[in-house]
Amino acid sequence: MQSIAILAYHSIDDSGSVLSVSPSIFAAQMGMLASGGVKCVSLIDAVEHREMHGDWPDNSAVITFDDGFASVHEHALPALKQHGFGATMFVVSDHVGGLNDWERPWPGLGYQPLMDWDQLGELCDAGVEIGAHTVSHADVSRIAPARLETEIEACREPIRTELNVDPMTFAYPFGRVSVAAACVVGGFYRAAVTTALRRARMDFAHDLPRVDMYYFRDEPDLCPVVSGERDRYLTWRRMGRMVRSALTRS
Ligand SMILES: [Zn+2]
Repeated sequence: MQSIAILAYHSIDDSGSVLSVSPSIFAAQMGMLASGGVKCVSLIDAVEHREMHGDWPDNSAVITFDDGFASVHEHALPALKQHGFGATMFVVSDHVGGLNDWERPWPGLGYQPLMDWDQLGELCDAGVEIGAHTVSHADVSRIAPARLETEIEACREPIRTELNVDPMTFAYPFGRVSVAAACVVGGFYRAAVTTALRRARMDFAHDLPRVDMYYFRDEPDLCPVVSGERDRYLTWRRMGRMVRSALTRS
């Protein structure tokens, strides 16, 4: 298997926001992946498999959640446990137990509670990998070099102290990465993910693309996404996104 879908979720709630997948759709997606014979694993498990065998694990997908929304603890954790699925949660260390108030609230979602350390501990106990997502959700592609190392490295310590785990993977906030940021991340983490909207192939470990679940928030069956049958759709959405971002810049 030369490719793998790394799925990117944020909040699991019924708000209909761009960051949200409803609890019922999420449960259906996990159920249909399980019955389709797809095993969901954490990012570090998939990356270690690739390092060891030179290829991604067969019939697998990687589940990731960004930001640490409490709704994931409430609605996603039971479904993951039910199917014995692994996953990775990327946490913003200064906001654990707080709110996602590092940016203006998303329409429909507003400010939402984030998991506290006890809830993150329950995720760890269930086999969910805890990865890092900076100290303050800073855009590491734009911040000054002096702050870069602090944002990328200093978020590790509270995770180690509070959860007794060593974060080995990283998600770039807003999916944005620069060469300088990737170099710093490479010094501290085994792998890192963007939001490049395609399945991962033999990509550089610190610049792995993900499939944003925004584009599949109404689809209970993700097996075609995992198998590659929806690659053409992903390409089309990726190009549309590039055109929109070029237009807003001009
Ligand atoms: Zn984020």
